[in-house]
Amino acid sequence: MPDRRSTPPKGTRASERPSGAADAHVAKELPSNASAFPGAPPSIPSSVFDLDIQDAITLKGIAGSPGVAVGPALVLGDLRAFFVRRHVHTAQIPQELERVQQGVEVAQSTLKAVDARMPKAMREASAILEAYQMMLSDPTLHDLISAKIRKEKKCAEWAVSEASEEIVAMFGPRESGDRDAYISERRHDVEFVCDRLLRALVGEESHHAVRLEEPMIVVARDLSPADTASMVREPALAFVTCVGTRTSHTSIMARALEIPCVVGVSNALEQIRTGDILVVDGLTGQVFVHPTDQSIRDARQRSEQHLAFARRLLSARHKPAVTADGVALALKANVELPAEAILAVDHGAQGIGLYRTEFLYIDRTTQPGEDEQYEVYRAIVEAVSPQAVTLRTFDIGGDKFASTFQMPAEMNPALGLRAVRLALKQPEVFLTQLRAMVRASAHGDVRIMVPMVSSVHEMREVKRLIAQAREQVRARGQAFEEHIPLGMMIEVPAAAIMADVFAREAEFFSLGTNDLVQYALAIDRASQSLAAQASPFDPAILRMIKFVTEAGKTQKIPVSLCGAMASDPLAACLLIGLGLRELSMEAAAIPEIKEAVRRITVPEAEAIAEQALACDSADAVEELLARELAPRLIDLLAGIAEDIPPTRSSMPPSNET
Ligand code: PEP
Ligand code: MG
Repeated sequence: MPDRRSTPPKGTRASERPSGAADAHVAKELPSNASAFPGAPPSIPSSVFDLDIQDAITLKGIAGSPGVAVGPALVLGDLRAFFVRRHVHTAQIPQELERVQQGVEVAQSTLKAVDARMPKAMREASAILEAYQMMLSDPTLHDLISAKIRKEKKCAEWAVSEASEEIVAMFGPRESGDRDAYISERRHDVEFVCDRLLRALVGEESHHAVRLEEPMIVVARDLSPADTASMVREPALAFVTCVGTRTSHTSIMARALEIPCVVGVSNALEQIRTGDILVVDGLTGQVFVHPTDQSIRDARQRSEQHLAFARRLLSARHKPAVTADGVALALKANVELPAEAILAVDHGAQGIGLYRTEFLYIDRTTQPGEDEQYEVYRAIVEAVSPQAVTLRTFDIGGDKFASTFQMPAEMNPALGLRAVRLALKQPEVFLTQLRAMVRASAHGDVRIMVPMVSSVHEMREVKRLIAQAREQVRARGQAFEEHIPLGMMIEVPAAAIMADVFAREAEFFSLGTNDLVQYALAIDRASQSLAAQASPFDPAILRMIKFVTEAGKTQKIPVSLCGAMASDPLAACLLIGLGLRELSMEAAAIPEIKEAVRRITVPEAEAIAEQALACDSADAVEELLARELAPRLIDLLAGIAEDIPPTRSSMPPSNET
């Protein structure tokens, strides 16, 4: 799974840049013939191509999964279950509580059934579906539901619906710009789980899979992993959703299925009706409704070119990452879910450079125990072995919210009790994690990394606690590796500037540019209004990166970079010039970055980096990269192979009316 909270660099390829609110060039009234989903099978017109000539409309969203598709739309209705609010008599309370219990079992077995049907390629969804099953037995949810039934005498459905709203409200207000994609995903998870429970209560217990009688483009407000999974064997040409980001479940699933997808098209349901011909451009994040014959022809050509491009990239994904002059690099993956480790290896990752363990603590009401964590870490280590796995200790706080931690309300959480600061304030919680990590070291090459370090004192305290964890594990007679390398994230300017000093405390560094940009430029990483200024190409950031790589070289400790900029082809080449030889990124970007680095020599990259360091602004750096590097990476930046002409035989049949 890609970096959930990564801030795409300003100079990143077009497909990664959110293009803001949907924008209909031609407004028009459309009849509402959207089918209910998943309650009722969709009605598909007999001949979807039997359409009047209509005005072309361009809708803008976010490119969720690359590729270009042409075909008729299938518009799915809202996902919410329908129920009647009613009060119950005191005597009926036990019965309502029992109904909730049965509903949970039905919803869990429905999710299990969807999971069982899931093909191998969707392993990632399996992990999500398992998490949903666990969420259905979450004590917070159950306490809230039973309080509403017992004290407020509300029927089971009403209690579930209100409990869902209350938990969702704990995530804070919804903001139109989706201030934090990660929070929005968690909110959606709660809504989805409660909706499954509601459906079980109202008797829609089976998951009504959508059946596509012909290849169609699925348009919906949102698609949950279970919904997407139910369509795996259907001829879905593409997905378009009103909500979501590049890191939302729909995008992740679409990329796993290699289906083009555009998310965040806020007015898709108003502008598209079932049967409308669409062009979905998952490279640019655009959806064309009623496209002209010419744009359909162009789309098919782009589709062919993208497929050829993707095939070519994937075929070389297991080859080593070496520059044109033969310098070997290590390209590793950032993962959040255990299932992603397999995906990472499949994309040619040379290990896991960042495992964000905080995801074990989120979306639950109790802390994960040592054994549970150990099993997760062990699974990842075994999946990737003999390659190394860098386990980052939890980075909770700031934009990463976990209700199980008692945290003070702070004016500025990003500058408050976060990551290692929180870990050191709650040593028992931290020790539980450290013991699990120490035990996982018995199964492969494990490294431990500490986030958000800003003082040497923190590193020394972490070392003391690791030694304590090791002794506790030893006392129990459990296996572990005596020496586990301990590294730190360089994501706070203080750590970057003191890198030469920190190099005596840490065995490796990993530059976290997502936070380094936030803290060095004083721009909230979630700020929409300042997103354009939060550029990792800012010379202030480049100078810090250079300083850290130099310190690593002098002190002979490895330096990696795991911020989102590593997955941008232009940035990756620049980073080589700044001295980096290891990058960690979302798994899906690895084949592309391998290809990018093969096209540059180290002296070329160094010459560009030198010029970049002398620039006075991020814009000047971007202009430099556009001039010096973009021409040789143009296909990677656009996601299509310009040199591959489309072959008529592999093109879909013409649908022009
Ligand atoms: C970073 O800050 O660049 C980083 C990789 O960590 P995260 O995005 O998890 O804060
Ligand atoms: Mg960070």
